[in-house]
Amino acid sequence: MAYDTDNIFARILRGEIPCHRVYEDADTLAFLDIMPKADGHTLVIPKAAATDLYGAPPEALAATIRTTQRIAAAVRKAFDAPGIMIAQLNGAAAGQSVFHMHFHVIPRYAGEDFRMHVGPKADNTVLAAHAARIRAALE
Ligand code: 5GP
Repeated sequence: MAYDTDNIFARILRGEIPCHRVYEDADTLAFLDIMPKADGHTLVIPKAAATDLYGAPPEALAATIRTTQRIAAAVRKAFDAPGIMIAQLNGAAAGQSVFHMHFHVIPRYAGEDFRMHVGPKADNTVLAAHAARIRAALE
């Protein structure tokens, strides 16, 4: 599938849509999912245009997984999460709904199911507080 330069994450990267940013460097951006499957659910994306895993330039992929590792550690600390799930979906049949490659970082707790994929939007104030917790854990 050709990369759509107007997908939501491309627009977030261009600053056209706000996000609750937790981390940014030259190659990657991490921000909260607005329909979190669990509190602290964070998305990590490359700045390079890539629809999915197959099309991602290797350098962008390497930078994205490096950032994902850092974010996973910070989310674990910030939310005292005994488990962290990393998910990366390719193609609508796999559940991909935004066609700019990304990794999901999702806290998990024993015996607790995560919330629905692309479920209800979280409250902005709550998301802002959660983003601040993760940023503090990165320091
Ligand atoms: P996918 O289904 O492609 O693996 O994941 C896309 C994710 O993006 C979903 O978990 C969805 O909740 C999230 N999402 C959709 N629209 C927005 C948005 O405008 N802002 C943010 N921060 N997340 C979004």
